[in-house]
Amino acid sequence: MALAIHALHPIFAAEMVGADLTQPPSAELVRAVEDAMARYAVTVVRDARITDDDHIRFSRAFGPLELPPGLGRTSAKRRLRMELFDASNLDANNEIVPYQSEARRLAKGAERFHSDSSFNSLPTKWSLLLGHIVPPEGGDTHFIDTRAVYDALPDETRARIAGLTAVHDFWRGRERTGLTGVTDAMRATMPPVTHPLVRTMPYGRKSLYVGGHATGIVGWPEPQALALLDELYAFATQERFIYVHKWRPWDLVIWDNRCTLHRATPLETDRYKRDVRRTTVNEYGPEVSAGAPAY
Ligand code: MN
Repeated sequence: MALAIHALHPIFAAEMVGADLTQPPSAELVRAVEDAMARYAVTVVRDARITDDDHIRFSRAFGPLELPPGLGRTSAKRRLRMELFDASNLDANNEIVPYQSEARRLAKGAERFHSDSSFNSLPTKWSLLLGHIVPPEGGDTHFIDTRAVYDALPDETRARIAGLTAVHDFWRGRERTGLTGVTDAMRATMPPVTHPLVRTMPYGRKSLYVGGHATGIVGWPEPQALALLDELYAFATQERFIYVHKWRPWDLVIWDNRCTLHRATPLETDRYKRDVRRTTVNEYGPEVSAGAPAY
């Protein structure tokens, strides 16, 4: 079946139909996906009925895996193998973990727009999230193209932010969304890192690199830094920049973390199982965890 690509939003995001991910990806397929990602920044590969092994093999065609942070999970509590980030609402026995439970507390931070693993010092590239089981309603994922956001910024703002470096701090970001009780030991697992506030993509376009983990500007007092970051966040999250993804089973949604933001919308009911599994790839570097394995 020939590959076909259809746009899903006026600014960015496309679906790809006809890709067979059950076989090692051909050079043509890899190129087609890279091209689609450079243009659309979010690509939804439809009907990707694949195993975890296929998912991991396909992901590695685009860069080394970034292994998920352990966040204190021992292997006994882990539902999936270590290469996969578990974005489900399921426990190790495949039973639903209630939305209002302590165990889901950390995941609520993902309801603020963010770029995955921007708290990692390694150069994060893409996330590839596969819907094994998706609920019949709810649980949409929202995306923003921050290249389009950068292009739309007033000239004055672009001049004001040129050359700035942002601080990305997982735990401070979570505290800003209401998490309490973060200890020094927890902070030590994922210390703050820095990234340019404006990134230049390999193909030349610039993007605004902000989101929920960005909690400071190097050399700025915190109140001013947060004021600027909140101003940029408010600009970026205007409805016109947002693509709402409504999941179908076996959608493999690929997004470029360097030039998009995304947020989860809560599945507030505990009626439905949601089994979504993510790989993350870096631009280069060793295959190591984005955070220390446990605290
Ligand atoms: Mn995320």
